[in-house]
Amino acid sequence: MRNKVILWGLGAMGSGMVSAIWKRPDLELVGVIDNDPKKAGQEVGKVLALSGIIDTINKEHLKEQYIKVSAEPGELLGKVQAGVLLLATGSFTRQVFPQIKQALEAGLNVITIAEEMAAPMVQEPELGGEMDRLAKKHGVSVIGTGINPGFVLDTLIIALTAPCMEIKKIRAARINDLSPFGPTVMATQGVGSTPEEFASGLKSGTIVGHVGFPESVHLIAEALGWKLDEIRQEREPIISKTSRQTPCVRVEPGMVAGCRHTAVGLIQGRTVIELEHPQQIHPEAEGIETGDYIWIEGTPNINLAIKPEIPGGTGTIAMAVNLIPHVLEARPGLLTMKDLPVPCLRYIRHET
Ligand code: NAD
Repeated sequence: MRNKVILWGLGAMGSGMVSAIWKRPDLELVGVIDNDPKKAGQEVGKVLALSGIIDTINKEHLKEQYIKVSAEPGELLGKVQAGVLLLATGSFTRQVFPQIKQALEAGLNVITIAEEMAAPMVQEPELGGEMDRLAKKHGVSVIGTGINPGFVLDTLIIALTAPCMEIKKIRAARINDLSPFGPTVMATQGVGSTPEEFASGLKSGTIVGHVGFPESVHLIAEALGWKLDEIRQEREPIISKTSRQTPCVRVEPGMVAGCRHTAVGLIQGRTVIELEHPQQIHPEAEGIETGDYIWIEGTPNINLAIKPEIPGGTGTIAMAVNLIPHVLEARPGLLTMKDLPVPCLRYIRHET
């Protein structure tokens, strides 16, 4: 018997999750929720074909392409039999909490890619406690994952500390290319703004840089048993020296090509965790190579370089779908990536 999955949020990531499910022999898509009027009421196969990402469907999944996207979660949750909800609607715990609550109350395990849900206790302890209580009450679990937060700048770092006898400091960087992303990402990273507009966007909160840094720093510290006194963040504009262009934004010399966002964790004034995430369009225009880097200063020193970086979209989609077997076997409650066994790609199919 295949594991039945409902997807909530058929956007860029959610559509990719449907494609990923359709490649797997152990999963079955049984429902899709999205309130975008262009998608609601349509067959999921048609929505995917329209966005150009449907590919050859594995025979076992043929019927699933005719599932109609529902704008009304109550039509599916608790009505259609399923074990897991994949949630890809938003970034912030407060925003996705009502959706998670509804799913937990319907007895579904929840895997979300909302960045703050990687460690909701950091910014929303009350909501985190409520989700833990609800999940335990209904005998299911809820977890936040993704590529970042969720893997590169937290889970992967935690795993790399295993062969160390002592650690003085952890530094890591994810250097990536923003060019494939759309207008929302460009706006929230300040791409195409002047330095003055960038400064006022930071103040007003329209430019935010990366969402999820406090969560990643917290996860690392908690896994290693470090009691941090403080987590600090800084965001600064990456000013372009060259002309660069994507389908949705043009940057001339002197304008902002991206945001260099850093976060540090301190113990007694000493930086013990330092994470860097400079994101810009066309970094190659100024000779910058993309990549994921981790440097552990300790015994032994460990240096990891993944060049180019793990692709954010594919990586996030795979992380969410690959977690399904782990979450089905996990203890009930609110979980984080450090609470699960080593994440991996594994299919499980139950005997009927
Ligand atoms: P998107 O805008 O392409 O898709 C979101 C979809 O959710 C849309 O189709 C929208 O109609 C739907 N939706 C939103 N609110 C809804 C609601 N209340 N009810 C029903 N449908 C609703 O976004 P995306 O690129 O797919 O990303 C989804 C979220 O995941 C974003 O917040 C993004 O920042 C986050 N994300 C996290 C990671 C990570 O590494 N953790 C990686 C990528 C994306």
